[in-house]
Amino acid sequence: MPETKTEQRSVRALPLVGAPVADAIKREVAAEAAGLKAAGVVPCLATVLVGDDPASAVYVRNKVRACEELGLLSERYDLPAGTTMDELLALVRSLNAREEVDGILVQLPLPRGTDEARVLDAIDPAKDVDGFHPVNVGRLSLGQPSLVPCTPAGVIELLARAGVEMRGAHACVVGRSNIVGRPAAQLLLQQDATVTVCHSRTRDLCSVTREADILVAAAGRIGLVRGEHIKPGATVIDVGVNKLDDENLARELFEGEEAERRVEIIRRRGFTLVGDVHPAEAAAVAGRLTPVPGGVGLLTIAMLMRNTLKAAKRRVNGDG
Ligand code: NAD
Repeated sequence: MPETKTEQRSVRALPLVGAPVADAIKREVAAEAAGLKAAGVVPCLATVLVGDDPASAVYVRNKVRACEELGLLSERYDLPAGTTMDELLALVRSLNAREEVDGILVQLPLPRGTDEARVLDAIDPAKDVDGFHPVNVGRLSLGQPSLVPCTPAGVIELLARAGVEMRGAHACVVGRSNIVGRPAAQLLLQQDATVTVCHSRTRDLCSVTREADILVAAAGRIGLVRGEHIKPGATVIDVGVNKLDDENLARELFEGEEAERRVEIIRRRGFTLVGDVHPAEAAAVAGRLTPVPGGVGLLTIAMLMRNTLKAAKRRVNGDG
């Protein structure tokens, strides 16, 4: 990583941590779910896992566990890697048809050779708790109520509950994926921010990002956002989750005790999780900064629980 000049501030960025916000959302969901239960309805999430990718299995397990903690029902469908398209589509259709199933989550990525778009398109949009169905994507872009992708929804919750003013602010999103970047940009627009979207073909990234009051990094590139990319005092949301196994780079990204702690994690586990933002440089320039891990990542499951509740409420009341 080349040396860059970082604009220094005497005050260091305040950490914008995810746990209190995720816990608050989960408490709200649990309370509302208890209310629905009294009316005879228990929100139910069906998870579909295909194949034996260990990371995907952990994600599904965490989602099922969150349902248990909050008083939601879950149904797990763990299918072998050789499952055919027809079998997968038949399962999705049978879940669509069951009234008591509120949310259907097909864990991505699906095994190579599976037509992901076709599977996602088969999910009833009213049960699409990941918010990836074209109908929900379209509604989001029209500013209509919809089930919204969980990670970008978590970004907005984190900003809102931390009291970060989005109205009129310049928000820049680095990344334009369907899962994070694009929906994050749409949601920031709904919050009346002035939104710029950057991507791998953006010329002179730095000149764009350093205009932003709110900078959302979702590129999947370790240390992409450096001090020079950040407007002094800006709020920086690091969505990136990347595995780092290079001890020298860990020492470059982190300072002091944190650098030693990360090196120790790499030696013990083989890797440490880092974001897209250079944490040491960003801390010297930004006003607020989300850590990785411990920032946005914690909100994704909380928002999935909220989407499942929303779908169940719609089933009961015809609204969200
Ligand atoms: P993706 O690979 O689908 O998209 C990356 C985007 O970044 C692309 O639009 C690309 O144009 C852009 N990009 C890549 N290199 C760039 C560069 N040098 N300059 C500017 N833009 C660049 O990734 P994704 O699925 O959107 O995920 C992004 C990151 O967020 C990953 O690190 C992923 O692990 C993480 N993520 C975290 C959560 C969570 O916290 N729960 C959820 C989803 C994704």
